[in-house]
Amino acid sequence: MPDLELDRRLDSLDAVFRSKVYELLARATEAGLLLVIVNTRRDNIQQAILRDAGRSWVKRSKHEQGLAIDVALSDVFQAKGPDKLAWNMDDRAVLDRWILLGEIGEKIGLRWGGRWDVADLGHFEVR
Ligand SMILES: [Zn+2]
Repeated sequence: MPDLELDRRLDSLDAVFRSKVYELLARATEAGLLLVIVNTRRDNIQQAILRDAGRSWVKRSKHEQGLAIDVALSDVFQAKGPDKLAWNMDDRAVLDRWILLGEIGEKIGLRWGGRWDVADLGHFEVR
């Protein structure tokens, strides 16, 4: 896919959603999960590029409104890179950490992409 510079700034997020994201990052840290921020806001062109590359599955995304964030477990991101499909690993211990992260997000009221038919393990958005 073309080299795409994705926005990773928390400041690009909707302010109310951003406060939830701060809580997600804080609770994840407390749980011992080290995360990297992969993408916050996208414009419609970036969304189309990601969709064409198979890194997003929807035409319209909450990312375009600053109402979604993609994070990754730091070690998974180091090993697998930005291709989300590669994050769906068979390793049970890794999956358990994604599930822990998802449950933390859900506990603070976010929708977690890990519940979707095509799991998007690092995606959180407003409910
Ligand atoms: Zn996402």
